[in-house]
Amino acid sequence: MPGVFVITGPSGVGKGTLIRLLRERLPELAMSVSATTRRPRPGETQGEDYHFISDEEFARRVADGDFVEWAEYSGRRYGTLREELDRHTSGGHPVVLEIEVQGARQVRETLPDATQIFIRPPSDDALRERLIGRGTDDPEQIERRLKVAEDELAAADEFEHVVVNDRLHDAADALEAIVRGTI
Ligand code: 5GP
Repeated sequence: MPGVFVITGPSGVGKGTLIRLLRERLPELAMSVSATTRRPRPGETQGEDYHFISDEEFARRVADGDFVEWAEYSGRRYGTLREELDRHTSGGHPVVLEIEVQGARQVRETLPDATQIFIRPPSDDALRERLIGRGTDDPEQIERRLKVAEDELAAADEFEHVVVNDRLHDAADALEAIVRGTI
């Protein structure tokens, strides 16, 4: 099976931006589109950013065993659909999963060959500033995400690779080196 890359770390750490840079450098990398029960943010597109589905549909798909992993995060559910992953790997493409820590732990059990990379911020303040600066969450959501982030940061040691997102391009270089060394 071609490489599966799990990229995890707290919300606001810059996973999305780093993955965008990584895919510019390695265009053969596919991105797994997750399913979620949260509502689309302005500018997000159904089927591109996420498969936005109802609570009922998510629950049904959990019961049907359709997810490789799923987790509840900040009151919403997020998960990787097996069919989404298979679509890329059966086509011979390495694929990136951008997921939170609980999901990454599940993938460690179900897909032990996947490469796991944890992205960490240079400091707690940097995380808060990024969550506020990107303007996608209201203050209550930001506080919830920062609380979860504390636990997530404590999990960094579990991961095979840790990249500090201090200077964006240095972090992208480090990520690229890990991925190139693995595919
Ligand atoms: P956001 O609401 O900011 O798009 O995502 C919230 C968190 O859910 C982020 O840490 C993101 O990486 C994570 N996430 C996105 N898709 C999945 C998924 O399929 N599974 C899991 N476990 N987490 C996900």
